Amino acid sequence: MKQSALQTPPPGFSGEIVRWQSTHGRNSLPWQNTRDPYRVWLSEIMLQQTQVATVLDYYARFLDRFPTVAELAAASEDEVLGLWSGLGYYSRARNLHRCAKDVVALHGGQFPGTAEQLQTLPGIGRSTAAAIASFCFGERVAILDGNVKRVLTRVLAFSADLAQSANEKALWNLATELLPKRNLPDTMPRYTQGLMDLGASICAGRQPQCLLCPVQKLCRGFAEGDPGKYPVKTRKLKRSAQGLSLLWAQRPDGSVWLERRPGRGVWGGLYCLPVFESDDELKAVLPPALQSRLAPLPQFVHVLTHKDLYLSPWVAGLGAGQALPKAMVSEERPGAWFGPSAWPALGLPAPIRKLLAQVA
Ligand code: SF4
Repeated sequence: MKQSALQTPPPGFSGEIVRWQSTHGRNSLPWQNTRDPYRVWLSEIMLQQTQVATVLDYYARFLDRFPTVAELAAASEDEVLGLWSGLGYYSRARNLHRCAKDVVALHGGQFPGTAEQLQTLPGIGRSTAAAIASFCFGERVAILDGNVKRVLTRVLAFSADLAQSANEKALWNLATELLPKRNLPDTMPRYTQGLMDLGASICAGRQPQCLLCPVQKLCRGFAEGDPGKYPVKTRKLKRSAQGLSLLWAQRPDGSVWLERRPGRGVWGGLYCLPVFESDDELKAVLPPALQSRLAPLPQFVHVLTHKDLYLSPWVAGLGAGQALPKAMVSEERPGAWFGPSAWPALGLPAPIRKLLAQVA
């Protein structure tokens, strides 16, 4: 028999979560106690793959600069990426900007009022749409991010492999059955937040703190004796490694040549030292006069989700009046000289920002 057929949600679950959230959950984060979809959406996008403590500063800076979705939509992508710089996963920032533009162009500056409509906007997936709709409109829709999957698979002792989409769909259905049924404008925001809070604190990691848990009596994973084995997901991320060479071309006034990366791929849309596949490729674009000025800096590793990047920077100090080769100043590789005072406001990949900070 399939796992989903064995499951019936434990009665009373949503009530326990709602009660616990109101006394023990997080209730004073800057994006709480508001039903403004703009603020909630901004926080939800920032919180994807990023800790609350990191998001707090970025959230405040974004709202300070862009108090409304219309102001965000009217900004340049460069400015948005600049403010996002350091938060990582830059496709989120590009989608954030596209979404703001769509809200203004297609919805008159108002976020749509249902999860189904919210999902049609760039960068808003099913779970994020549900979070916004439950927080802002009290809609009865389930979220299922990584933390919530962990809580629910443990509570339900859901042992089916989530790598298979049919099993993930079954878990969505069970998550929906577990939702509150009454007084939705009040209970849905609290329930949604409660699941997030429980997954981020007590029911975190391989060793959940079950003795502190408000739903311990209802938790089938706890009753079995080994809740840490949930969720079950067999597919592992395949990691790879890549070596890249970086050209740090610097003029006597301290300015550095930074290129705008293509929209897709690693560091898409950000400014970056020119990137080459190898040291040989980097050297090949430089005339002999510049090659003789090249000096290597220590190689370092930057860890991405799926990949380890081994970065080899090369410094080339240009003399007065010396120019970069034409091959590097083209439409395919748009770039400009930026002095140290301009670097903080630029959208730069985190490892490049750290590297430049060594001399700023
Ligand atoms: Fe998680 Fe333990 Fe609570 Fe179950 S009892 S939901 S495993 S913390």
